[in-house]
Amino acid sequence: MTGNEEFRRRVDDGPAREAAELTLLVPVMNEEEAIPAFLERVVPLLEKMDDPASGSFEILFIDDGSRDETLSLIRAASATDPRIGAISLSRNFGKEAALTAGLDHAQGKAVIPFDVDMQDPPEAIAEMLRKWREGNDIVYGVRTNRSSDSLPKRLTADLYYRAHNALSHDKIPEHAGDFRLLDRKVVEIIKKMPERNRFMTGLFAWTGFRQAAVEYERAEREDGTSHFGYWKLWTLALDGLTSASTVPLRVWSYLGGLIAIGTLIFAGFIVAKTLITGIDVPGYASLMVAVLFLGSVQLISLGVLGEYVGRILREVKGRPIYIVGERIGEVADRRTESSHF
Ligand code: UDP
Ligand code: MG
Repeated sequence: MTGNEEFRRRVDDGPAREAAELTLLVPVMNEEEAIPAFLERVVPLLEKMDDPASGSFEILFIDDGSRDETLSLIRAASATDPRIGAISLSRNFGKEAALTAGLDHAQGKAVIPFDVDMQDPPEAIAEMLRKWREGNDIVYGVRTNRSSDSLPKRLTADLYYRAHNALSHDKIPEHAGDFRLLDRKVVEIIKKMPERNRFMTGLFAWTGFRQAAVEYERAEREDGTSHFGYWKLWTLALDGLTSASTVPLRVWSYLGGLIAIGTLIFAGFIVAKTLITGIDVPGYASLMVAVLFLGSVQLISLGVLGEYVGRILREVKGRPIYIVGERIGEVADRRTESSHF
């Protein structure tokens, strides 16, 4: 059976059982240290919530190519608790791809992506559900206090949100990470979005609908270390900007126009000056400055063009965003209609 046939069969069969109220999506990559603490804290917390979801939730891990004991820990947990399951990707595809895989497989009426390190407090989930029941379709978490992040990380994050929102038509809420509640309606839209370049925060914001915020403080990571160094964050920022805005492409025409006007005025000036006072040979410094400045401006604009062309290439190739290697538990053994195969 080809992948497509299998996909159709599953869609035709429909969901095997009634959809859960809530799916917690947990991307994990080499998190053997964090998983036991996570389950110990989150499962009782969800069970005790004052919401119908407390009796009807599922926890879907997306194993993003872990090379440690992460998967066997999840397998053990899933064997004793059918509400826990996992999609294991065939290799590391990155967090955005992992979230895409999770959204494609989540069955809950509300879906919350949640980091396993619990830097975002799981207690906020109850508050998110409350706002969702009030009729909001997206309830995003906003970090009021980022003192657990280092100063340079805070500053660059701040700069990024500003730059993104200044350049792009689709604004993203400041200091909102991936921790947010998504209504099924929003999930279905995200599932139909075909782009390979998946800057999730931008995609969520783009869908619109009624949105509300829940404020919380972000804690330190308890076990293990962050997977996002500055280089990865920079790449993520480029993905976000290039997918949300074409201003970086257009700005060069305006800059070129301005320089051209300046050059014309200057040309008129030196021609007049030469006519009046004769030929003036010195000028090496100004020549060098002009050549080097324009040369670097051209290289930068070429680089920006390259960023976009590279992304177009990735889109055109149309490869799947992720590949499922293994499914663990009943929770993971369903696939719903989406355009990501
Ligand atoms: N993660 C992932 N794939 C990756 C990198 C990270 O699934 O390639 C997961 C990781 O296991 C964690 C979440 O994404 O659950 C957030 O990662 P991390 O805490 O390292 O990021 P930070 O909180 O520093 O932004
Ligand atoms: Mg973290």
